[in-house]
Amino acid sequence: MDASISPAVLQHDQLSAPLGVVWDPDWRCNLNCAHCSTARNESNAPWPSVLNEVSAIRPFFVSLGGGEPLLFSDRTLTILEALALSGVMTNLTTNATLVDPKLAAKLAVFRSSMKVTVSIDDWGAGGVMLRDPDSRHAAMRGLELLQNAGIAVALAVVVTRQNVSVLPDSAIALARERAIGAIKFSRVKPAGRAAAQFAEFCCDAAALQAFFERCVKGSTPEVRLEIADPLAASTALQMAGCPAGRTMLYIAPSGHVTPCAFWGRTFGVTPRDDLQELWASMSAWVAAQRPPAGCDMCPVFAACGGGCPAAREACPGFGGRDPQCPRPVRDGAAS
Ligand code: SF4
Ligand code: SF4
Repeated sequence: MDASISPAVLQHDQLSAPLGVVWDPDWRCNLNCAHCSTARNESNAPWPSVLNEVSAIRPFFVSLGGGEPLLFSDRTLTILEALALSGVMTNLTTNATLVDPKLAAKLAVFRSSMKVTVSIDDWGAGGVMLRDPDSRHAAMRGLELLQNAGIAVALAVVVTRQNVSVLPDSAIALARERAIGAIKFSRVKPAGRAAAQFAEFCCDAAALQAFFERCVKGSTPEVRLEIADPLAASTALQMAGCPAGRTMLYIAPSGHVTPCAFWGRTFGVTPRDDLQELWASMSAWVAAQRPPAGCDMCPVFAACGGGCPAAREACPGFGGRDPQCPRPVRDGAAS
């Protein structure tokens, strides 16, 4: 058998289905944080029909978020059960403030097919609180109940101007103390409720890069640091550009299908439109996009891919580039 691979195969960078579906069944939340990048007001699509579409497309995993998914715990448990029966892994992102022993025990039924990520954004130093102070205590209690029920828990941290100076060290210290094996960091996006005060929450490019450098030094086998951000490519962190529309699609509570929760390019509405066809048209469109001017000459372009397209489109005052890109533009090329 000829082991060589046809150039046509190598050039084909569209998957027949997304590896992951990010689905927010509902944006309602008990905390209503000002820095939340998803919350908007829209009516919800019929979630059982959306669930059928998601199961039919057979992704490797579904990330369930919100809003706060445990505000509607019966629905969330039903979704977890259906996805587990379809052989789909789930990652449930929650603020954990509504977890009680009974709910932790119900969630534990799915522990072999589910990971839980607990969102904590307040790290104290500097005195600026992003949430109601009582919510931190409630989240820590919920996290403990989940762990006591045998559920694998990771932390999710949104990096903002208010907390960047104490990260990742404060989060790593908590992870070590609570035997949490992974922390996912993402920067605040100019979307959802955060869009209105983005300048207040967004840290500057230098502070963001300094944070990435600290992450390179702070990651250990004991506490894995995950940074889903193309701009981390400027450091030694391994990146593969933005996954939106390449390996991932997003479904809003309304059923609108976009490449990412923060990128408002709608390709259709599920369940009205066929999700498989929406993925095909989305991934073809994303694959045809050209990088911003100067990015293709950038030394880290292969890893970064041009930054975050959602941030690029939401902040057009940066010449079409990611507003937090650290590289200056010289003669049309980033250096
Ligand atoms: S110039 Fe473009 S490719 Fe280079 S780091 Fe900035 S956004 Fe990424
Ligand atoms: S559009 Fe931005 S936020 Fe969304 S996956 Fe891509 S890099 Fe991440």
